[in-house]
Amino acid sequence: MMSERAITDPENIYLQSAKAFHLEMPLYTQFDLSVGAVAEKVFACVSHAGTIDAYCIYCEKESVFKTTENIHETPQRKNEYVKESDFEAWSNRGYGFDRVVHTCTRGGHNYYAYYFRSKETLIKFGQLPSAADFQIPQAGKYRKILGEQQYKELTRGIGLAAHGVGIGSFVYLRRIFENQIEEAHKAATGGVDEDAYARARMDEKIQILADHLPEFLVENKTLYSILSKGIHELTEEECRRHFEALKIGIEQILDEKIEKAEKLAKAERARKAIQGVSQEVSKEKEGTA
Ligand SMILES: [Zn+2]
Repeated sequence: MMSERAITDPENIYLQSAKAFHLEMPLYTQFDLSVGAVAEKVFACVSHAGTIDAYCIYCEKESVFKTTENIHETPQRKNEYVKESDFEAWSNRGYGFDRVVHTCTRGGHNYYAYYFRSKETLIKFGQLPSAADFQIPQAGKYRKILGEQQYKELTRGIGLAAHGVGIGSFVYLRRIFENQIEEAHKAATGGVDEDAYARARMDEKIQILADHLPEFLVENKTLYSILSKGIHELTEEECRRHFEALKIGIEQILDEKIEKAEKLAKAERARKAIQGVSQEVSKEKEGTA
């Protein structure tokens, strides 16, 4: 059965790599296979038989995963391997299940992904560990810079998105994003026309605060135009579609903040070290005088 939710855009973010497709794509994402370019990209991902660089939750670090299974099963229990050269055959098969397994080359740990396919659509219906299971440990590096409250909201957003919840997950990211803007607003006190700021849309606020925000955010402010929309105007599908782009944007902002904080901390350590040396030198001078 064809659903209006099925993705028809071959440039969709989850079709751009086997990693995005198998590991990052939320559950219940659907593709319209009647669109030739979409079907070809879906097939490329399903039949991918190379390696994927990804975080292993069992090793607790980045690892290389190898495709160890890509099988198409029909209800008649007929298991067939999906070969990379077999687009025609794959397209012509009836409804059934595609199972893809990636194995961590360091420790033999398995990541599973399951898809249901009819002639017209493919839908992801299973993943273990979940996208949230390995995205949340990676978000841990933002805990300090975000603080407990915002960090909780980030992980909740990731968790909801991994389970196909659009609006709910989007609201959490939007709150974090708005908090980042508000922090910059506070840091800019005195230098901002408050009346104009209060009336400004999100992209205009970013422009007003440009000197106090990470460069990436200012350069990509069009990405956030959707944030100017009221929550009631956004559809479940729109939120799901924009979640990943917004998440990457927020990570970029936070990475820039962490980098800046590290630079400041290093400069501070250097300043103290130099002060220590100069005190010692002047003491030595006093001693020899
Ligand atoms: Zn592993």
